[in-house]
Formats: sequence, C-alpha cells, structure tokens
Amino acid sequence: MLEYSQMRIDILTLFPTMFCGALQESILKRAQQRGLLHLVIHQIRDYALDRHQMTDDLPYGGGVGMIMKPEPVFRAVRTVLGGTQAPVILLTPQGRTFTHAVAQELAQHPRLMLICGHYEGVDERVRERLIIDELSIGDYVLTGGELAAMVVVDAVARFVPGVLGAAEGAHDDSYAGGLLEGPQYTRPPVFEGRQVPEVLLSGDHARIARWKRAMALQRTLVRRPDLLEAASLSAEDEALLREFRRTLGEPDGVE
Ligand code: SAM
Repeated sequence: MLEYSQMRIDILTLFPTMFCGALQESILKRAQQRGLLHLVIHQIRDYALDRHQMTDDLPYGGGVGMIMKPEPVFRAVRTVLGGTQAPVILLTPQGRTFTHAVAQELAQHPRLMLICGHYEGVDERVRERLIIDELSIGDYVLTGGELAAMVVVDAVARFVPGVLGAAEGAHDDSYAGGLLEGPQYTRPPVFEGRQVPEVLLSGDHARIARWKRAMALQRTLVRRPDLLEAASLSAEDEALLREFRRTLGEPDGVE
C-alpha cells in the first residue's frame, strides 16, 4: 500500500479572504479533503495587541505608502509555530525566483510558513530575524504577497506524493524532464479543418512516445533553448535537435 505524507502550509496574511476560492477548488480541494495537504490561513491583524490592531505604519525616513509593523508578524510566527521547526518564507519581489526546482525542493519539507507582505512591504527586522528564505514569483511588483503565496502553494502541492492522481502525473509536464511539453490534442479529430496529427490516432504507443519526445524537443528549441543546456539528452535527441536546427536555418551546434 502506498503511504502518502501530509504537508502543512501556514499562510500569514492581512487579507485571508483572498484565499477563499483559489485554494478550494479542483486538485487542491481534493488534496485537502484526503488529508494530504493542510492549509491554514492566519490573519496577522489577530496578533496585533494595540487597541486599534494596527498592522502598518508610516515609513521612517519618509516616502510613500505604509510599512507592515514587525510586532504582529513576530507574534503571529511565534504563536503559530509554537516552537515547531518550519522554513519561514517571505514573498517578496526581491527574493530568489520561484521555479520548478524550488517548488520540488520546498515540497520535501513537512511544513512551510509563508508570509505575505502588503502595502510598501514589511519592516526589515522581520526579514533579518524571522525569515529563512525569500521568494519572488517574477520580476514585477504585485500589490501583495497573497497571489504569490497561492502560486507557491499550488506548485509545491503538485509535488506532495498522492496530490496528483496517476492520470494527472507531472512526469510529462513542462520542466519535469528539463523540456517544455509538446502540443496536446483532444476530440474532435478535426476542428475547423485542423486535424489532430495522425500519429496520435495510430494506437502505436512507441511511435506516439517518439513523436511526443520530438515535439517536446522542438518546442523547447524554439521557445526556451536555454533549457536544452541542462536537459539530459540521448544521442537520438541530439540528432533530432540537429535536424530541427537545420530546418530552422540555425547552426546545428556541432563544433
Ligand atoms: N516596496 C517593495 C519593493 O520595492 O521591493 C514592494 C512591495 S509590494 C507593493 C507589496 C508586497 O507584495 C510585498 O511585500 C510582497 O509580499 C508582495 N510581492 C510583490 N511583488 C511580488 C513578487 N514578484 N513576488 C512575490 N511577492 C511579491
């Protein structure tokens, strides 16, 4: 019998309702129902002890916007973890870029804590004293870390054993084998005059597998040639790539 591990992810935010919906549908919903994924959303404001439960304040030194105060965040992290060890991660446009490999790495932990910044960001002492990792989902600035946290949860959860059913396995997905996935089709076989490639209807599994590999190589060459440098490629893959490069009028990479 397969044994599946459970992963717990605590999310600290000023806007908990943003998480309603996105994390409660489809595969993530099923993972939570099956006890494979335990998501707990915490309102940072609940940890602000002053009369007005202030969570942000003006920036020292002037400047626009508000900064999230350190006290409620410190109190929230310490109370929620209660001495338990878990990587505490800040979502920030200044963090290391979140990738397939980072998602896979994070999925090895039984528990994670994600902190969502908002406004102009979080008091630097949070980063200095509480944070073990900082993640950015791309080189742009969002209004808050909530959407970024959802992206991280979704991508990490896919690597928790059992979360993806056999039919949804991540093995062919883009990045999984270092390549982008090739084109995909479903019924009908002809749509507005465009036909599904004959090989996919052939029932010949070996031929289909070769075609899929060739399409993945071709698509990666055209869209993300940088990935090919790190991909593990067979002699047959290399030969196909040389052929594709010739078709595209590119140098074939042979010295
Ligand atoms: N003043 C900050 C700076 O220039 O680095 C940006 C603050 S941003 C408006 C507010 C919050 O959104 C951040 O604290 C962070 O939590 C989140 N955020 C914005 N862009 C992000 C990104 N690309 N990846 C992850 N989190 C992001």
